[in-house]
Amino acid sequence: MMSETDSNSAGEAMMSLIRRLYPICRSITGDGLRQTLRIVGEQIPLQLIEVPSGTPVFDWTVPPEWNLKRATLTAPDGRVVADTDIHNLHLMNYSVPMRATMTLSELRPHLFSMPDKPDWIPYRTSYYAPNWGFCLAHRVLESLPEGDYRVDIDTTLSPGSLTYGELLIPGETDDEVLFSAHACHPSLANDNLAGIAVATALAQELARERRRYSYRFIFAPGTIGSICWLARNQDRVSRIKHGLVLSCLGDSGSLTYKRSRRGDAEIDRVVEHVLRESVAAHQVNDFVPYGYDERQYCSPGFNLPVGVLMRTPNGKYPEYHTSADNLDLVKPAALADSLNTLRIVVDVIEQNGTFVNQLPHCEPQLGRRGLYSNTGGNATPPGYEMALLWVLNYTDGQHDLLDISKRSGIPFATIATAAKMLREKSLLK
Ligand code: ZN
Repeated sequence: MMSETDSNSAGEAMMSLIRRLYPICRSITGDGLRQTLRIVGEQIPLQLIEVPSGTPVFDWTVPPEWNLKRATLTAPDGRVVADTDIHNLHLMNYSVPMRATMTLSELRPHLFSMPDKPDWIPYRTSYYAPNWGFCLAHRVLESLPEGDYRVDIDTTLSPGSLTYGELLIPGETDDEVLFSAHACHPSLANDNLAGIAVATALAQELARERRRYSYRFIFAPGTIGSICWLARNQDRVSRIKHGLVLSCLGDSGSLTYKRSRRGDAEIDRVVEHVLRESVAAHQVNDFVPYGYDERQYCSPGFNLPVGVLMRTPNGKYPEYHTSADNLDLVKPAALADSLNTLRIVVDVIEQNGTFVNQLPHCEPQLGRRGLYSNTGGNATPPGYEMALLWVLNYTDGQHDLLDISKRSGIPFATIATAAKMLREKSLLK
């Protein structure tokens, strides 16, 4: 468990990474994405992989690389009403290059706003259909006078590559735990940057000591990035025993877990248990084939045990995919709470297991083995002796420690401590 000081400094460190990444114009390819991954790479030894444009990946093709210099929309009176130097959401992401003068009615099909949120700029993309557009606050759009507008979109769309970042922290076994965060959203703080920052902080911590599992971190553009990774690693996916997509982890809402497609995978039971034990308000939702990269990891051909950890889910907070998903929406304390939850999830994954009682005929004599605290004088957690009895009775090869914790109502950490002591006395295998 983190002290308050550690928690504050972890929250601030994640927040400062988010602040640094926020202004960069990211996309599913291009220099903004690359720069983002390089900055993450300053904190963890991330390997950058380039997948050339035109590469077939399952039913998809890696698109041409998109880069933005600047895009502006100038009104007849000379007023610049959209400018990516002011906010990169002003341009529809992946807009094709365009230089033209046109009337307001010709321009209209290319303008996007949110009438119900008149001060916010919406986030729009057109990755796979060539298009262009500007996104404006509705208040600005409504004020536009008739006349000739100058469109100046200085972008390039040309053969290049898609970049993703990967880090494997080796453990005692090749069995892997996967953490995956999308890295393609431009200036949006909670949806994208919070997940990146929490994943980076978690990777830093996991790299400090060797664990039972190997831990793989993937930072990739949404959809096409995880499709690229899966296409290039088909022979390795069977090593993934548990996985989580990390997203929207910085808003002040409570935690939400979205189950894997399997629904009853160990990761599902672990995260649900950790949230239940935390006593904090939380929500658990079933898998739906909509959302983030769990759509690819949980596609039926892979059906990996990958769930999603979020705070307020995508689409469920008003600022989602707008300019209001900004630095004010993300709170250091929420980031720290998300990180701490993941730490506990990792601890449970590491300690959980299915063991077999080696003396199942009647209870073994525990006092003789120094396992009762009144004889051994050990500092043991409350409920520890009860935990010994529960563990001995249910380690029949059918129940893992998580089941025993759930069934007994004894905290997982106490059950795990009891199991560890029993293993040391060779009463469990
Ligand atoms: Zn999004």
